[in-house]
Amino acid sequence: MRILHWFRKDLRLDDNTALAEAAHDSDHDVVPFYASDPAWFARPDMAATRVRFVLGALTELSASIAARGSKLALAHGDPAETVPRAARATGADAVYWNDEYEPALAARDDRVEAALRAAGVGVKRFHDRLLVPPGAVTTRTGGNYTVYTPFRRACEEVPIAEPHARVECLAPHELPSPRLATLERLGFAEPGSAAWPAGESHAHRRLQRFLGGTGREPGAGLARYASERDFPSVPATSQLSADLKFGTLGIRRLAHGVLAAAARDPRLAASADKYVQELRWRDFFAHVLWHHPHVEQGAFRPEFDRLRWTGTDADFAAWCEGRTGYPIVDAGMRELLATGLMHNRVRMVVASFLTKDLLLDWQRGERWFMTHLVDGDLASNNGGWQWAAGTGSDAAPWFRIFNPILQGMRFDASGRYVRQWCPELAKLPDAYVHRPWESPPLVLLEAGVTLGETYPLPRVDHAERRDQALAMYSAARAK
Ligand SMILES: Cc1cc2nc3c(=O)[nH]c(=O)nc-3n(C[C@H](O)[C@H](O)[C@H](O)COP(=O)(O)OP(=O)(O)OC[C@H]3O[C@@H](n4cnc5c(N)ncnc54)[C@H](O)[C@@H]3O)c2cc1C
Repeated sequence: MRILHWFRKDLRLDDNTALAEAAHDSDHDVVPFYASDPAWFARPDMAATRVRFVLGALTELSASIAARGSKLALAHGDPAETVPRAARATGADAVYWNDEYEPALAARDDRVEAALRAAGVGVKRFHDRLLVPPGAVTTRTGGNYTVYTPFRRACEEVPIAEPHARVECLAPHELPSPRLATLERLGFAEPGSAAWPAGESHAHRRLQRFLGGTGREPGAGLARYASERDFPSVPATSQLSADLKFGTLGIRRLAHGVLAAAARDPRLAASADKYVQELRWRDFFAHVLWHHPHVEQGAFRPEFDRLRWTGTDADFAAWCEGRTGYPIVDAGMRELLATGLMHNRVRMVVASFLTKDLLLDWQRGERWFMTHLVDGDLASNNGGWQWAAGTGSDAAPWFRIFNPILQGMRFDASGRYVRQWCPELAKLPDAYVHRPWESPPLVLLEAGVTLGETYPLPRVDHAERRDQALAMYSAARAK
Protein backbone atom coordinates (compact mmCIF):
# COMPACT_ATOMS: atom_id res chain seq x y z
CA MET A 1 0.00 0.00 0.00
CA ARG A 2 1.33 3.46 -0.94
CA ILE A 3 0.18 6.51 1.03
CA LEU A 4 0.45 10.20 0.25
CA HIS A 5 1.02 12.25 3.40
CA TRP A 6 -0.38 15.73 2.95
CA PHE A 7 1.68 18.14 5.11
CA ARG A 8 -0.23 21.17 6.30
CA LYS A 9 0.28 22.78 9.71
CA ASP A 10 2.34 19.79 10.80
CA LEU A 11 5.70 20.70 9.27
CA ARG A 12 7.76 18.04 11.04
CA LEU A 13 8.79 14.38 10.93
CA ASP A 14 8.78 13.87 14.71
CA ASP A 15 5.59 13.20 16.69
CA ASN A 16 3.38 13.54 13.62
CA THR A 17 0.28 11.38 14.01
CA ALA A 18 -0.84 11.04 10.39
CA LEU A 19 2.71 10.63 9.10
CA ALA A 20 3.56 7.97 11.71
CA GLU A 21 0.34 6.09 10.91
CA ALA A 22 1.06 6.32 7.19
CA ALA A 23 4.58 4.96 7.70
CA HIS A 24 3.15 2.11 9.75
CA ASP A 25 0.25 1.23 7.42
CA SER A 26 2.36 1.37 4.23
CA ASP A 27 5.54 -0.09 5.66
CA HIS A 28 7.28 3.21 4.88
CA ASP A 29 5.95 3.62 1.34
CA VAL A 30 4.96 7.21 2.13
CA VAL A 31 5.13 10.04 -0.39
CA PRO A 32 5.53 13.43 1.35
CA PHE A 33 3.46 16.19 -0.25
CA TYR A 34 2.79 19.86 0.44
CA ALA A 35 -0.04 21.72 -1.30
CA SER A 36 0.57 25.42 -1.36
CA ASP A 37 -2.92 26.87 -1.29
CA PRO A 38 -3.34 30.31 -2.92
CA ALA A 39 -6.47 30.90 -0.82
CA TRP A 40 -4.33 30.76 2.31
CA PHE A 41 -1.80 33.29 1.06
CA ALA A 42 -4.62 35.55 -0.15
CA ARG A 43 -6.35 35.81 3.21
CA PRO A 44 -6.72 39.53 3.99
CA ASP A 45 -5.37 38.99 7.51
CA MET A 46 -2.28 37.09 6.37
CA ALA A 47 1.02 38.33 7.81
CA ALA A 48 4.24 38.30 5.80
CA THR A 49 6.05 37.13 8.93
CA ARG A 50 3.91 33.96 9.06
CA VAL A 51 4.48 33.26 5.38
CA ARG A 52 8.22 33.69 5.97
CA PHE A 53 7.99 31.27 8.91
CA VAL A 54 6.24 28.67 6.76
CA LEU A 55 8.80 29.03 3.96
CA GLY A 56 11.61 28.59 6.50
CA ALA A 57 9.96 25.54 8.03
CA LEU A 58 9.36 24.03 4.58
CA THR A 59 12.99 24.58 3.62
CA GLU A 60 14.14 22.60 6.62
CA LEU A 61 11.47 19.92 6.18
CA SER A 62 12.47 19.51 2.56
CA ALA A 63 16.13 18.99 3.54
CA SER A 64 15.20 16.46 6.26
CA ILE A 65 13.09 14.52 3.77
CA ALA A 66 15.90 14.55 1.19
CA ALA A 67 18.25 13.17 3.87
CA ARG A 68 15.82 10.27 4.26
CA GLY A 69 15.90 9.15 0.64
CA SER A 70 12.87 11.02 -0.66
CA LYS A 71 11.88 14.56 -1.61
CA LEU A 72 9.06 16.88 -0.63
CA ALA A 73 6.58 16.99 -3.51
CA LEU A 74 5.03 20.41 -3.99
CA ALA A 75 2.08 21.73 -5.96
CA HIS A 76 0.53 25.18 -6.06
CA GLY A 77 -3.23 25.43 -6.47
CA ASP A 78 -6.58 24.48 -4.95
CA PRO A 79 -5.92 21.36 -2.83
CA ALA A 80 -9.22 19.86 -4.03
CA GLU A 81 -7.41 19.55 -7.38
CA THR A 82 -3.72 19.27 -6.48
CA VAL A 83 -4.08 16.58 -3.80
CA PRO A 84 -6.10 14.09 -5.92
CA ARG A 85 -3.82 14.81 -8.90
CA ALA A 86 -0.71 14.05 -6.83
CA ALA A 87 -2.32 10.92 -5.37
CA ARG A 88 -3.19 9.61 -8.83
CA ALA A 89 0.20 10.50 -10.33
CA THR A 90 2.10 8.61 -7.66
CA GLY A 91 -0.28 5.67 -7.50
CA ALA A 92 -1.27 6.28 -3.88
CA ASP A 93 -4.00 4.08 -2.44
CA ALA A 94 -4.80 6.60 0.25
CA VAL A 95 -4.06 10.11 1.47
CA TYR A 96 -3.47 10.76 5.19
CA TRP A 97 -3.51 14.08 6.96
CA ASN A 98 -3.90 15.73 10.37
CA ASP A 99 -7.14 17.61 10.82
CA GLU A 100 -7.62 21.37 11.18
CA TYR A 101 -10.38 22.86 13.29
CA GLU A 102 -10.91 26.29 11.75
CA PRO A 103 -14.28 26.39 9.96
CA ALA A 104 -12.90 27.37 6.52
CA LEU A 105 -10.09 24.81 6.66
CA ALA A 106 -12.36 22.02 7.83
CA ALA A 107 -14.72 22.82 4.94
CA ARG A 108 -11.81 22.78 2.49
CA ASP A 109 -10.68 19.41 3.85
CA ASP A 110 -14.17 18.00 3.36
CA ARG A 111 -14.02 19.11 -0.29
CA VAL A 112 -10.63 17.47 -0.73
CA GLU A 113 -11.87 14.27 0.87
CA ALA A 114 -14.92 14.19 -1.43
CA ALA A 115 -12.71 14.72 -4.51
CA LEU A 116 -10.36 11.94 -3.42
CA ARG A 117 -13.14 9.48 -2.70
CA ALA A 118 -14.75 10.28 -6.05
CA ALA A 119 -11.40 9.39 -7.64
CA GLY A 120 -11.32 6.08 -5.76
CA VAL A 121 -8.54 7.12 -3.36
CA GLY A 122 -8.91 6.34 0.35
CA VAL A 123 -8.66 9.04 3.02
CA LYS A 124 -7.68 8.89 6.68
CA ARG A 125 -7.79 11.99 8.86
CA PHE A 126 -6.22 12.19 12.30
CA HIS A 127 -6.39 14.30 15.43
CA ASP A 128 -2.95 15.73 16.09
CA ARG A 129 -2.90 19.45 16.82
CA LEU A 130 -4.46 19.59 20.26
CA LEU A 131 -4.10 17.73 23.53
CA VAL A 132 -7.81 16.92 23.36
CA PRO A 133 -9.72 17.19 20.04
CA PRO A 134 -13.09 18.95 19.75
CA GLY A 135 -15.96 16.68 20.73
CA ALA A 136 -13.83 14.48 23.01
CA VAL A 137 -15.06 16.14 26.18
CA THR A 138 -18.66 17.06 26.89
CA THR A 139 -20.57 18.49 29.80
CA ARG A 140 -22.80 16.25 31.92
CA THR A 141 -25.73 17.16 29.66
CA GLY A 142 -23.78 16.35 26.52
CA GLY A 143 -23.05 19.96 25.56
CA ASN A 144 -19.73 21.63 24.90
CA TYR A 145 -17.86 23.68 27.47
CA THR A 146 -17.93 27.44 27.26
CA VAL A 147 -16.08 28.05 30.54
CA TYR A 148 -12.39 27.27 30.80
CA THR A 149 -12.02 25.77 34.29
CA PRO A 150 -14.58 22.94 33.95
CA PHE A 151 -13.26 22.38 30.41
CA ARG A 152 -9.73 22.01 31.78
CA ARG A 153 -10.85 19.65 34.52
CA ALA A 154 -12.66 17.45 32.00
CA CYS A 155 -9.60 17.44 29.74
CA GLU A 156 -7.38 16.44 32.63
CA GLU A 157 -9.29 13.16 32.76
CA VAL A 158 -8.06 12.35 29.23
CA PRO A 159 -4.50 10.98 29.27
CA ILE A 160 -2.03 12.89 27.09
CA ALA A 161 -1.04 10.47 24.32
CA GLU A 162 2.61 9.45 24.02
CA PRO A 163 4.60 11.20 21.27
CA HIS A 164 5.07 9.31 18.00
CA ALA A 165 8.57 8.32 16.96
CA ARG A 166 10.24 10.38 14.24
CA VAL A 167 9.62 8.93 10.78
CA GLU A 168 13.02 8.02 9.39
CA CYS A 169 12.23 6.50 6.04
CA LEU A 170 10.13 7.89 3.18
CA ALA A 171 9.51 6.70 -0.37
CA PRO A 172 11.42 7.85 -3.45
CA HIS A 173 8.93 9.15 -6.06
CA GLU A 174 8.64 11.06 -9.30
CA LEU A 175 6.26 13.86 -8.28
CA PRO A 176 7.57 17.37 -9.00
CA SER A 177 9.49 19.05 -6.24
CA PRO A 178 9.98 22.59 -7.53
CA ARG A 179 11.98 25.22 -5.66
CA LEU A 180 10.03 26.94 -2.94
CA ALA A 181 8.49 30.28 -3.87
CA THR A 182 9.97 33.39 -2.33
CA LEU A 183 8.04 35.90 -0.23
CA GLU A 184 8.26 38.32 -3.10
CA ARG A 185 6.88 35.86 -5.65
CA LEU A 186 3.99 35.18 -3.31
CA GLY A 187 3.23 38.90 -3.29
CA PHE A 188 4.58 39.82 0.16
CA ALA A 189 7.03 42.55 1.05
CA GLU A 190 9.82 41.59 3.44
CA PRO A 191 8.28 42.09 6.91
CA GLY A 192 9.71 44.81 9.13
CA SER A 193 9.99 42.41 12.06
CA ALA A 194 13.10 40.33 12.67
CA ALA A 195 13.07 36.83 11.16
CA TRP A 196 11.98 34.12 13.58
CA PRO A 197 14.16 31.01 13.05
CA ALA A 198 11.74 28.46 11.62
CA GLY A 199 11.85 24.69 11.34
CA GLU A 200 11.78 21.54 13.39
CA SER A 201 15.38 21.84 14.65
CA HIS A 202 14.79 25.42 15.84
CA ALA A 203 11.62 24.34 17.63
CA HIS A 204 13.49 21.56 19.43
CA ARG A 205 16.26 23.99 20.35
CA ARG A 206 13.69 26.40 21.79
CA LEU A 207 12.12 23.54 23.73
CA GLN A 208 15.49 22.42 25.12
CA ARG A 209 16.35 25.98 26.08
CA PHE A 210 13.02 26.31 27.89
CA LEU A 211 13.51 23.04 29.71
CA GLY A 212 17.10 23.95 30.48
CA GLY A 213 18.67 20.85 28.92
CA THR A 214 18.11 18.60 31.88
CA GLY A 215 15.37 20.88 33.16
CA ARG A 216 17.45 21.69 36.20
CA GLU A 217 19.34 24.84 35.30
CA PRO A 218 17.98 27.54 37.59
CA GLY A 219 17.82 30.14 34.79
CA ALA A 220 15.75 28.03 32.41
CA GLY A 221 12.25 29.23 31.58
CA LEU A 222 10.41 26.25 33.00
CA ALA A 223 12.04 26.67 36.42
CA ARG A 224 10.65 30.22 36.55
CA TYR A 225 7.41 29.66 34.67
CA ALA A 226 4.95 29.42 37.56
CA SER A 227 6.30 32.46 39.36
CA GLU A 228 7.54 34.73 36.57
CA ARG A 229 5.59 34.01 33.40
CA ASP A 230 3.65 37.26 33.77
CA PHE A 231 6.69 39.54 33.74
CA PRO A 232 7.45 40.61 30.18
CA SER A 233 11.13 41.41 30.73
CA VAL A 234 11.85 37.93 32.15
CA PRO A 235 12.55 35.10 29.68
CA ALA A 236 10.31 32.69 31.59
CA THR A 237 7.97 31.61 28.78
CA SER A 238 8.66 29.07 26.05
CA GLN A 239 8.14 31.20 22.90
CA LEU A 240 6.82 28.09 21.19
CA SER A 241 3.51 29.50 19.95
CA ALA A 242 4.55 29.76 16.29
CA ASP A 243 5.95 26.22 16.46
CA LEU A 244 2.62 24.96 17.77
CA LYS A 245 0.75 26.99 15.18
CA PHE A 246 2.65 25.55 12.22
CA GLY A 247 3.42 22.20 13.77
CA THR A 248 7.21 22.40 13.81
CA LEU A 249 6.82 20.84 17.26
CA GLY A 250 4.38 18.09 18.23
CA ILE A 251 2.07 18.90 21.12
CA ARG A 252 2.66 15.49 22.75
CA ARG A 253 6.46 15.89 22.50
CA LEU A 254 6.15 19.27 24.19
CA ALA A 255 3.74 18.25 26.96
CA HIS A 256 5.65 15.07 27.78
CA GLY A 257 8.96 16.97 27.68
CA VAL A 258 7.66 19.37 30.30
CA LEU A 259 6.10 16.63 32.44
CA ALA A 260 9.25 14.49 32.25
CA ALA A 261 11.37 17.44 33.43
CA ALA A 262 9.05 17.78 36.42
CA ALA A 263 9.21 14.05 37.09
CA ARG A 264 13.03 14.31 37.24
CA ASP A 265 12.96 17.36 39.47
CA PRO A 266 9.86 17.77 41.66
CA ARG A 267 10.71 21.47 42.16
CA LEU A 268 9.44 21.97 38.61
CA ALA A 269 6.04 20.41 39.31
CA ALA A 270 4.12 23.67 39.85
CA SER A 271 5.58 25.17 36.68
CA ALA A 272 4.89 22.07 34.61
CA ASP A 273 1.32 22.02 35.86
CA LYS A 274 0.84 25.70 35.03
CA TYR A 275 2.40 25.23 31.60
CA VAL A 276 0.07 22.39 30.64
CA GLN A 277 -2.85 24.52 31.87
CA GLU A 278 -1.76 27.22 29.41
CA LEU A 279 -1.65 24.67 26.61
CA ARG A 280 -5.22 23.87 27.52
CA TRP A 281 -6.22 27.50 26.89
CA ARG A 282 -5.07 26.89 23.34
CA ASP A 283 -7.27 23.78 23.21
CA PHE A 284 -10.15 25.68 24.81
CA PHE A 285 -10.20 28.44 22.20
CA ALA A 286 -9.92 25.90 19.39
CA HIS A 287 -12.95 24.08 20.82
CA VAL A 288 -14.90 27.33 21.19
CA LEU A 289 -14.27 28.20 17.54
CA TRP A 290 -15.18 24.67 16.44
CA HIS A 291 -18.47 24.59 18.34
CA HIS A 292 -19.35 28.28 17.90
CA PRO A 293 -18.03 29.31 14.49
CA HIS A 294 -19.92 32.61 14.68
CA VAL A 295 -17.11 33.97 16.90
CA GLU A 296 -15.05 34.44 13.75
CA GLN A 297 -17.53 37.12 12.64
CA GLY A 298 -18.67 38.67 15.93
CA ALA A 299 -19.03 38.52 19.68
CA PHE A 300 -19.61 35.16 21.37
CA ARG A 301 -22.39 36.96 23.28
CA PRO A 302 -24.50 38.62 20.59
CA GLU A 303 -25.56 41.51 22.85
CA PHE A 304 -22.00 42.80 22.56
CA ASP A 305 -22.33 43.14 18.79
CA ARG A 306 -24.43 46.20 19.72
CA LEU A 307 -21.51 48.06 21.30
CA ARG A 308 -21.26 51.59 19.86
CA TRP A 309 -17.53 52.16 19.48
CA THR A 310 -16.61 55.83 19.33
CA GLY A 311 -12.80 55.79 18.97
CA THR A 312 -11.25 57.45 15.92
CA ASP A 313 -8.95 56.27 13.15
CA ALA A 314 -6.26 58.53 14.58
CA ASP A 315 -6.59 56.71 17.94
CA PHE A 316 -6.23 53.41 16.13
CA ALA A 317 -3.11 54.59 14.28
CA ALA A 318 -1.55 55.78 17.56
CA TRP A 319 -2.23 52.38 19.13
CA CYS A 320 -0.83 50.45 16.15
CA GLU A 321 2.35 52.51 16.09
CA GLY A 322 2.94 52.58 19.87
CA ARG A 323 2.23 56.31 20.36
CA THR A 324 -0.57 56.33 22.92
CA GLY A 325 1.48 57.96 25.69
CA TYR A 326 0.95 54.94 27.97
CA PRO A 327 4.40 53.32 28.11
CA ILE A 328 3.39 49.69 28.72
CA VAL A 329 0.96 49.85 25.80
CA ASP A 330 3.44 51.53 23.49
CA ALA A 331 6.19 49.09 24.46
CA GLY A 332 3.96 46.13 23.59
CA MET A 333 2.86 47.53 20.25
CA ARG A 334 6.47 48.29 19.31
CA GLU A 335 7.57 44.81 20.40
CA LEU A 336 4.94 43.40 18.04
CA LEU A 337 6.19 45.46 15.10
CA ALA A 338 9.83 44.62 15.81
CA THR A 339 9.55 40.90 16.57
CA GLY A 340 6.18 39.59 15.38
CA LEU A 341 5.46 38.55 18.97
CA MET A 342 4.22 40.16 22.16
CA HIS A 343 4.30 38.86 25.69
CA ASN A 344 0.94 37.43 26.83
CA ARG A 345 0.49 39.84 29.77
CA VAL A 346 1.09 42.78 27.46
CA ARG A 347 -1.30 41.38 24.82
CA MET A 348 -3.99 41.52 27.51
CA VAL A 349 -3.05 45.08 28.47
CA VAL A 350 -3.00 46.48 24.93
CA ALA A 351 -6.23 44.69 24.04
CA SER A 352 -7.98 46.13 27.08
CA PHE A 353 -6.58 49.56 26.23
CA LEU A 354 -7.83 49.46 22.63
CA THR A 355 -11.35 48.49 23.62
CA LYS A 356 -11.86 50.19 26.96
CA ASP A 357 -9.62 53.25 26.80
CA LEU A 358 -9.68 54.06 23.09
CA LEU A 359 -13.23 52.67 22.71
CA LEU A 360 -12.31 50.92 19.48
CA ASP A 361 -13.83 47.69 18.17
CA TRP A 362 -11.90 44.62 19.34
CA GLN A 363 -12.15 43.21 15.81
CA ARG A 364 -9.84 45.97 14.54
CA GLY A 365 -7.27 44.93 17.12
CA GLU A 366 -7.79 41.26 16.29
CA ARG A 367 -7.10 42.02 12.62
CA TRP A 368 -3.99 44.10 13.42
CA PHE A 369 -2.60 41.28 15.51
CA MET A 370 -3.30 38.73 12.78
CA THR A 371 -1.52 40.83 10.18
CA HIS A 372 1.59 41.16 12.37
CA LEU A 373 1.94 38.10 14.64
CA VAL A 374 4.20 35.23 13.67
CA ASP A 375 2.03 33.01 15.91
CA GLY A 376 -1.23 34.58 14.65
CA ASP A 377 -3.90 31.92 15.05
CA LEU A 378 -7.59 32.46 14.42
CA ALA A 379 -8.82 30.56 17.49
CA SER A 380 -6.28 31.79 20.07
CA ASN A 381 -6.26 35.35 18.78
CA ASN A 382 -10.03 35.60 18.59
CA GLY A 383 -10.30 33.99 22.02
CA GLY A 384 -7.72 36.36 23.50
CA TRP A 385 -9.41 39.42 22.04
CA GLN A 386 -12.91 38.39 23.09
CA TRP A 387 -11.55 37.59 26.56
CA ALA A 388 -10.00 41.06 26.89
CA ALA A 389 -13.00 42.85 25.38
CA GLY A 390 -15.34 40.97 27.70
CA THR A 391 -17.42 39.69 24.78
CA GLY A 392 -16.25 36.07 24.81
CA SER A 393 -17.33 32.73 26.23
CA ASP A 394 -15.18 32.63 29.36
CA ALA A 395 -14.14 36.26 29.23
CA ALA A 396 -12.90 38.77 31.74
CA PRO A 397 -16.14 40.38 32.97
CA TRP A 398 -16.97 43.37 30.76
CA PHE A 399 -16.70 45.73 33.73
CA ARG A 400 -13.15 44.67 34.67
CA ILE A 401 -10.86 47.20 33.05
CA PHE A 402 -7.08 46.99 33.17
CA ASN A 403 -5.37 50.08 34.48
CA PRO A 404 -2.31 50.43 32.19
CA ILE A 405 -0.31 52.30 34.81
CA LEU A 406 -0.89 49.75 37.57
CA GLN A 407 -0.31 46.86 35.16
CA GLY A 408 3.02 48.41 34.22
CA MET A 409 4.02 49.03 37.83
CA ARG A 410 3.06 45.52 38.87
CA PHE A 411 4.46 43.46 36.01
CA ASP A 412 7.34 45.70 34.93
CA ALA A 413 8.26 47.30 38.24
CA SER A 414 11.84 48.01 37.22
CA GLY A 415 10.67 49.43 33.87
CA ARG A 416 13.11 47.18 32.03
CA TYR A 417 10.55 46.13 29.43
CA VAL A 418 9.36 49.68 28.79
CA ARG A 419 12.92 50.97 28.55
CA GLN A 420 13.78 48.30 25.99
CA TRP A 421 10.98 49.25 23.60
CA CYS A 422 10.60 52.94 24.45
CA PRO A 423 14.27 53.97 24.73
CA GLU A 424 13.28 57.64 24.83
CA LEU A 425 12.07 56.94 28.40
CA ALA A 426 15.19 55.01 29.42
CA LYS A 427 16.49 57.64 31.78
CA LEU A 428 13.26 58.22 33.69
CA PRO A 429 13.38 56.92 37.27
CA ASP A 430 11.41 53.71 37.94
CA ALA A 431 8.77 55.67 39.82
CA TYR A 432 7.73 57.58 36.67
CA VAL A 433 8.56 55.27 33.83
CA HIS A 434 4.94 54.05 33.65
CA ARG A 435 3.43 57.55 34.07
CA PRO A 436 5.85 60.06 32.60
CA TRP A 437 3.23 62.83 32.59
CA GLU A 438 3.26 62.81 36.40
CA SER A 439 7.03 63.38 36.57
CA PRO A 440 8.14 66.68 38.03
CA PRO A 441 9.46 68.96 35.25
CA LEU A 442 13.03 68.73 36.55
CA VAL A 443 12.96 64.94 36.43
CA LEU A 444 11.74 65.06 32.83
CA LEU A 445 14.44 67.54 31.97
CA GLU A 446 17.18 65.41 33.49
CA ALA A 447 15.85 62.31 31.67
CA GLY A 448 15.81 64.20 28.36
CA VAL A 449 12.06 63.71 27.94
CA THR A 450 9.90 66.45 26.43
CA LEU A 451 6.30 65.28 26.56
CA GLY A 452 4.47 65.84 23.31
CA GLU A 453 7.82 65.93 21.48
CA THR A 454 10.18 63.10 22.40
CA TYR A 455 7.34 60.99 23.84
CA PRO A 456 3.57 61.54 23.45
CA LEU A 457 1.32 62.96 26.11
CA PRO A 458 -1.32 60.42 27.16
CA ARG A 459 -3.84 60.27 24.36
CA VAL A 460 -6.78 59.76 26.73
CA ASP A 461 -7.47 60.10 30.43
CA HIS A 462 -7.77 56.55 31.76
CA ALA A 463 -10.25 57.37 34.56
CA GLU A 464 -12.56 59.25 32.20
CA ARG A 465 -12.42 56.58 29.53
CA ARG A 466 -13.09 53.90 32.10
CA ASP A 467 -16.42 55.55 32.96
CA GLN A 468 -17.27 55.97 29.28
CA ALA A 469 -16.47 52.33 28.58
CA LEU A 470 -18.68 51.16 31.44
CA ALA A 471 -21.53 53.31 30.14
CA MET A 472 -20.99 51.99 26.61
CA TYR A 473 -21.09 48.35 27.73
CA SER A 474 -24.10 48.94 29.98
CA ALA A 475 -25.99 50.53 27.09
CA ALA A 476 -25.27 47.56 24.80
CA ARG A 477 -26.49 45.13 27.43
CA ALA A 478 -29.63 47.11 28.20
CA LYS A 479 -30.93 47.35 24.62
C1 LIG B 1 -5.32 39.51 22.75
C2 LIG B 1 -4.56 38.20 22.67
C3 LIG B 1 -4.26 37.66 21.43
C4 LIG B 1 -3.56 36.45 21.35
N1 LIG B 1 -3.28 35.93 20.11
C5 LIG B 1 -2.64 34.74 20.01
C6 LIG B 1 -2.38 34.16 18.75
O1 LIG B 1 -2.72 34.70 17.71
N2 LIG B 1 -1.71 32.97 18.72
C7 LIG B 1 -1.30 32.34 19.86
O2 LIG B 1 -0.70 31.27 19.77
N3 LIG B 1 -1.57 32.84 21.07
C8 LIG B 1 -2.22 34.03 21.18
N4 LIG B 1 -2.46 34.56 22.42
C9 LIG B 1 -2.11 33.78 23.61
C10 LIG B 1 -0.71 34.05 24.19
O3 LIG B 1 -0.48 35.43 24.31
C11 LIG B 1 0.41 33.43 23.37
O4 LIG B 1 0.13 32.09 23.09
C12 LIG B 1 1.74 33.47 24.15
O5 LIG B 1 2.07 34.80 24.44
C13 LIG B 1 2.83 32.83 23.33
O6 LIG B 1 4.06 32.93 24.02
P1 LIG B 1 4.76 31.65 24.64
O7 LIG B 1 4.83 30.55 23.66
O8 LIG B 1 6.05 32.14 25.21
O9 LIG B 1 3.75 31.28 25.79
P2 LIG B 1 3.90 30.24 26.99
O10 LIG B 1 3.50 30.96 28.23
O11 LIG B 1 5.22 29.57 26.98
O12 LIG B 1 2.73 29.21 26.71
C14 LIG B 1 2.93 27.96 26.04
C15 LIG B 1 1.93 27.80 24.95
O13 LIG B 1 0.61 27.72 25.49
C16 LIG B 1 -0.31 28.35 24.60
N5 LIG B 1 -0.92 29.48 25.30
C17 LIG B 1 -0.43 30.15 26.36
N6 LIG B 1 -1.31 31.09 26.77
C18 LIG B 1 -2.35 31.02 25.93
C19 LIG B 1 -3.58 31.73 25.81
N7 LIG B 1 -3.92 32.70 26.67
N8 LIG B 1 -4.42 31.42 24.81
C20 LIG B 1 -4.12 30.43 23.94
N9 LIG B 1 -2.98 29.71 24.00
C21 LIG B 1 -2.11 30.00 24.98
C22 LIG B 1 0.50 28.85 23.41
O14 LIG B 1 0.43 27.88 22.40
C23 LIG B 1 1.90 28.97 23.98
O15 LIG B 1 2.91 28.84 23.02
C24 LIG B 1 -3.17 35.78 22.53
C25 LIG B 1 -3.49 36.34 23.78
C26 LIG B 1 -4.17 37.54 23.84
C27 LIG B 1 -4.49 38.12 25.18
